[in-house]
Amino acid sequence: NGNNNWNAHLLTSIGELSAGVAHEVRNPLTAVKGFLQLLEQTYNTKYIHIALDEVERAISILNDLMSVSKPEFEQENVISFNVATELESTLLLFQNQLYNIRIVKDFKQQVAIVKGRRNQIKKAFFNLIKNAIEAMPNGGTLTIELYQDEDGTHVMISDTGVGIPKDKLRLLGTPFFTLKQDGTGMGIAQVYSAIQNNHAFIQVKSIEGKGTSFYIRFPNDSRRKDHTISMEGIEMKTVQ
Ligand code: ADP
Ligand code: MG
Repeated sequence: NGNNNWNAHLLTSIGELSAGVAHEVRNPLTAVKGFLQLLEQTYNTKYIHIALDEVERAISILNDLMSVSKPEFEQENVISFNVATELESTLLLFQNQLYNIRIVKDFKQQVAIVKGRRNQIKKAFFNLIKNAIEAMPNGGTLTIELYQDEDGTHVMISDTGVGIPKDKLRLLGTPFFTLKQDGTGMGIAQVYSAIQNNHAFIQVKSIEGKGTSFYIRFPNDSRRKDHTISMEGIEMKTVQ
């Protein structure tokens, strides 16, 4: 599918270009942050707090942007790790935001070993869970399923939230695409980069007003070089 391939190229080139820019902008901003912290010690005002918060927000956007880029990504080593543990610990990071959200954990195995770049994959889980929670401002159910079989390791993260409008589905994963007031549009781009970089497979199903589910499969054969991103039956396949 032409559109989706174009998306993939856009993701790679924007990702790499902006990662370079992000790096350059982050250094002076980090210096500004340091001076603001010094000022805060002497003049502890509301305005300095606001300035610090904003600088920190800017730095965190730049960090996100940098981690979408491939060169940065490929620096991490491939290791064997337990996906169940990573899902559990990622979920813990959100525990104080879950008061109106029911969690359903359906793990067929407590140990599901995957070979890959652990931090990238963990960050992908983080982004998917964060989006799921943000999609349910009035509460709902977050379901995390995990199972391993002869085809690989399967992870499903689903919510009963607002869903994604059909015509917006194919924009998912394009850096800066967001439908949120204060969104950065960097989360799914990161998820897709992590999927590609770990030779995994992702599929998105979403119904507006009903919910969204992301299905990820890590194939057993780590020698497999091709990876697929599929959106609602539209498949994008890239062979590395
Ligand atoms: P951000 O969260 O900063 O907006 P993301 O890349 O994480 O950026 O997500 C991009 C957009 O995709 C979101 O703004 C939202 O519209 C949509 N989206 C992603 N995940 C979900 C979800 N679980 N439910 C509904 N919409 C979602
Ligand atoms: Mg997000």
